[in-house]
Amino acid sequence: MKIKRIDLGYIKIPLVTPFKTALRTVDSIHDLIVKVEAEDGTYGYGEAPATAVITGDTRESIEAAIRGYIAPSIIGMDLDDLDEIMKKMEKCIAKNTSAKAAVDIALYDLYAKLKGQPLFRLLGADKPQEIKTELETDITISVNETDEMVRDSIRAVQGGFRVLKVKVGKGGAKDVERIRAIREAIGPDAVIRVDANQGWSREEAVRTIRAMEDAGLNIELVEQPVSYHDFKGMQYVTSQVETPILADESVFSYEDAVRIMEEHGADLINIKLMKTGGIHEALRICDAAEQFGVQCMTGCMLESKVSVSAAAHLAAARGCITMADLDGPSLCSEDPYTGGPIYRDPKILLPEDAGIGISKMPVVFEKINID
Ligand code: MG
Repeated sequence: MKIKRIDLGYIKIPLVTPFKTALRTVDSIHDLIVKVEAEDGTYGYGEAPATAVITGDTRESIEAAIRGYIAPSIIGMDLDDLDEIMKKMEKCIAKNTSAKAAVDIALYDLYAKLKGQPLFRLLGADKPQEIKTELETDITISVNETDEMVRDSIRAVQGGFRVLKVKVGKGGAKDVERIRAIREAIGPDAVIRVDANQGWSREEAVRTIRAMEDAGLNIELVEQPVSYHDFKGMQYVTSQVETPILADESVFSYEDAVRIMEEHGADLINIKLMKTGGIHEALRICDAAEQFGVQCMTGCMLESKVSVSAAAHLAAARGCITMADLDGPSLCSEDPYTGGPIYRDPKILLPEDAGIGISKMPVVFEKINID
């Protein structure tokens, strides 16, 4: 069965509240949607957000990469040889991981539909005993003034979330106070993950994390304390604190992940499809993580249900993914899609529908014409 056509469209969904990290502030999701169609009319959907501050990808660059390079390279290829398609896509343009992810997700959705299987069953076929059909996601608490972060944290816990991912990285000493105030407000039972989004220097990171440890704030992990290219800094922080360090912006590719694991640049890895360029590369990272005995989180950017659900299928399929940071749909003020995993905060339930499971969406698609 060959790839017949690739169409592009956009979805825009307002967020419940603005999303703020050490890197940016955003008030709605405005993502590219890709539809890949096979000769028999079966189609798959993919999605990519433009997270320029992290991936370097803009809406314009994602669209241009798919129109100008990816679509002309893979249209007409045989879907039975998914590996070949992925290799061709990887080689036709360097970087551009969000564009590749959008098409990769649509291809996996389509491939699983053609096989009549839910994507997680297909991805977990080698170790079916590790498959889980229910995940629990954390929820992001944006970095704000402490009072507001405390209010947001209380609201999240009252709304049923058991795990909070708190964004910090805007002033070390102030960050300790933020987390202390949140811990006091929500009590000892809720899990707190801290994400500095590269906001600290090495020394500031060690000082801040040790202060949280000394204060008994019981932090599950600290994500990306220092700049993504400061590999030695990540190693240093990891060696100097008790709290597990999770690499996020430092790990895009399989090679990045292997280096982190071999040289102990972090204790844990956050796999995001927009960094890996999709499921194909993410599976390679999972294979390596399983060899090294390293646990992974799967996270998302500000994405809606299509690509977040692709990550949910991956998490459901692979035993090394023990943490889910898939709160994109929970941050959206509406769900414009029909079908797919069910987001019943904080649970994500995976039904047995073929593919990712999303059957309809209010998107106007435009066909990519290639010569
Ligand atoms: Mg992060």
